[in-house]
Amino acid sequence: MAGEPQDDCLFCKIVAGQIPATVVRETETTLAFRDINPQAPTHVLVIPRVHYPDIASLGTAEPAVAADVLRESGEVAAEEKLESYRVVFNTGSGAGQTVWHAHAHVLGGRGLEWPPG
Ligand code: 5GP
Ligand code: ZN
Repeated sequence: MAGEPQDDCLFCKIVAGQIPATVVRETETTLAFRDINPQAPTHVLVIPRVHYPDIASLGTAEPAVAADVLRESGEVAAEEKLESYRVVFNTGSGAGQTVWHAHAHVLGGRGLEWPPG
């Protein structure tokens, strides 16, 4: 069922503590942890504890939790003292999404070109 933990989901396993992660922030509804393959000096993933396959389906079903993900992304940037940063939701395999549990990438600590590649 939408929102329920999925046995085959990597990020549900991180939420459940079955796979270790370097957690930087936690709330009742979200978890923020460092990406295992960082693309910038700061590369943190902010995820909802509930399982939805992407940010759009989360936003439709549980808009308050989607707002929590956005707020926490800003809190991560503030804690990391990032003056400039980027929050990215890769959505769909053609855009680089590889994990089908909604997540924000918070990237900073280096120059970020625009438009991205
Ligand atoms: P996507 O490609 O779906 O937008 O982002 C998935 C992200 O999850 C990638 O940046 C990838 O490096 C990260 N990732 C994949 N497996 C793990 C893991 O086991 N632990 C952590 N911390 N990050 C992971
Ligand atoms: Zn999941």
